Amino acid sequence: MTTLTMKFGGTSVGSPEAFAQAANIVLEQAQKWDHLVVVVSAMSGVTDALIRGALTAASGDGQTYHAIATDLRACHYRAVDTLLEPDGERSSLLAVVDEYLDGFAAFCHSVHILGEVTPRAMDAISSLGERISARILAAVLRQQGAHSEAVDATELIVTDDTFQNAAPLLEATRARVSARLAPLLDEGIIPVVTGFIGATEDGVTTTLGRGGSDYTAAILGDCLDADEVWTWTDVDGVMTADPRIVPDARVIPVLSYSEVGELAYFGAKVLHPRTIRPVIERGIPLWVKNTFNPTCPGTRIVHEPESAPSTVKAVTAIKGLSMVTVEGRGMMGVPGIAARTFSAVAGRGASVLMIVQASSEQSICFIIPTEAVPPVIRAIEEEMALELGRGDIDRVWSLDDVVIVTAVGAGMRGTPGIAARIFGALGRGNINIIAIAQGSSECSISLVVMADDAADAVRQIHSEVILNAGPET
Ligand code: ASP
Ligand code: MG
Repeated sequence: MTTLTMKFGGTSVGSPEAFAQAANIVLEQAQKWDHLVVVVSAMSGVTDALIRGALTAASGDGQTYHAIATDLRACHYRAVDTLLEPDGERSSLLAVVDEYLDGFAAFCHSVHILGEVTPRAMDAISSLGERISARILAAVLRQQGAHSEAVDATELIVTDDTFQNAAPLLEATRARVSARLAPLLDEGIIPVVTGFIGATEDGVTTTLGRGGSDYTAAILGDCLDADEVWTWTDVDGVMTADPRIVPDARVIPVLSYSEVGELAYFGAKVLHPRTIRPVIERGIPLWVKNTFNPTCPGTRIVHEPESAPSTVKAVTAIKGLSMVTVEGRGMMGVPGIAARTFSAVAGRGASVLMIVQASSEQSICFIIPTEAVPPVIRAIEEEMALELGRGDIDRVWSLDDVVIVTAVGAGMRGTPGIAARIFGALGRGNINIIAIAQGSSECSISLVVMADDAADAVRQIHSEVILNAGPET
């Protein structure tokens, strides 16, 4: 028995044409595998719109959610009208769209009256996009003659009650999956499962975090003992750089799990490592493929790094950052400064992307999103009031408009000369490096540069250490 789990992301069902293409892919693979399970995201932009409706309603705006409901109705109607024959399931699907979008308006109405949206209510609202798209895709498949049924993952994926970022409970989920999905598969039915959502043991809807449909696919792949998991997106695979910045960026044929982790951390639009762990740890092959170019093989993600001639696989950039520096000669050799600095940062809920301290201990620098700077600086100044008063710490300041540029590749470990080539390329490009960090995993090197230099820095590094390295394996 062969089993394939395939997930279609938001852009892969983002228009009537995309839905049709996704359906063709499903029908083609249905011929090749004994069991096929499909996971689907909301149409692209829908989850964002649902969340915006809830947030505006909570903030006292009683209009915007109505306008959003109207837009969402139009976009789903267009898909249904284009894809489904009038004498087939079209009218019943239009009724399904109405039912969920009326539900959306009703939820937002309550949120508006209450003046707040709880995480639990947010999950009820943000789960609606997947419920609709799964039903549309299943109907399109039926119209093409396949046996298909939409399944809400609330019936399959049991989670804790951390609303908006729920963790799956694998044993309970496994039991539900075999009770609910296995019979469908045995009858030759293609289940189209809503991505992103789950439910607590009591049946209250939860979501697995933004972009959570990949997680759904991985959980189902694990529970079904799938032979492979494929995630369909709108690019040919994971790229060596953002093609908008680097026109000659290429598809990376093979990536290891730790490289995916570095890439996700450093802002590339790839799979979140947490979401694919269930399949990677079990050694189930995972592929990222392009719905709009299905013959391109895509990127394969494997558990262990493979030795490849190219040591650097990708270059990424994260924007919208600032570098905060705590500096002073009196910090040298005083224990606890770093701990107190970072607990002050954590107290403001800011996530730190990179930390640098030289052995002279005269400054600690770290990178945070720019919007977090004012509260973070205030918090550190309060925490260090005594040291600032005594002059042990001179000042706490920030440099805005910086970008972290990161070169990622497990093959860098133990390979001398990569850093030299990266720095050489930047030197030739006349790009000033503000700070540097490399973790001891040696899976990535990160550099801070000014935002104006970022695109150039990415291009220089890409052409020096990726294009120059010859073909990837
Ligand atoms: N629709 C959800 C989101 O936009 C989940 C997903 O697309 O993976 O976050
Ligand atoms: Mg999405």
